[in-house]
Amino acid sequence: MKYCSKCGAEIMDEAYVCPHCGCKTEPEKAQGNAGNTLRTIAKIFMLISCGMWAVVFLIYLALTTILACLISLIPLSWIIPMTVVYWKKVAHHQPVGTGFKVCTLLFVNTIAGILMLCDNNND
Ligand SMILES: [Zn+2]
Repeated sequence: MKYCSKCGAEIMDEAYVCPHCGCKTEPEKAQGNAGNTLRTIAKIFMLISCGMWAVVFLIYLALTTILACLISLIPLSWIIPMTVVYWKKVAHHQPVGTGFKVCTLLFVNTIAGILMLCDNNND
């Protein structure tokens, strides 16, 4: 929990705007250059994951059966949307939930997930 700097009301850590007075909870000053660098590297690692699975798909397409190709597409069905969601959130300076970060760590890219968890953009 954190407190609104204007009215002092207790608000959710994830809140972007105070529900009581409507003022912005925490301006972007908390997100320094270190955070931006972490986010940029995390985005690159997520793209690398997309690229790796796309290569796996192409290799399967060339060498194996249609079924194997389709199976190799399954990870892409969440890796690509998660990468898009993360890029959008970073672009709009929206906070990224811890759940999303952990899912990235487990299912998309370990390094990107760790970088996101190091990035305290919810403060
Ligand atoms: Zn307030």
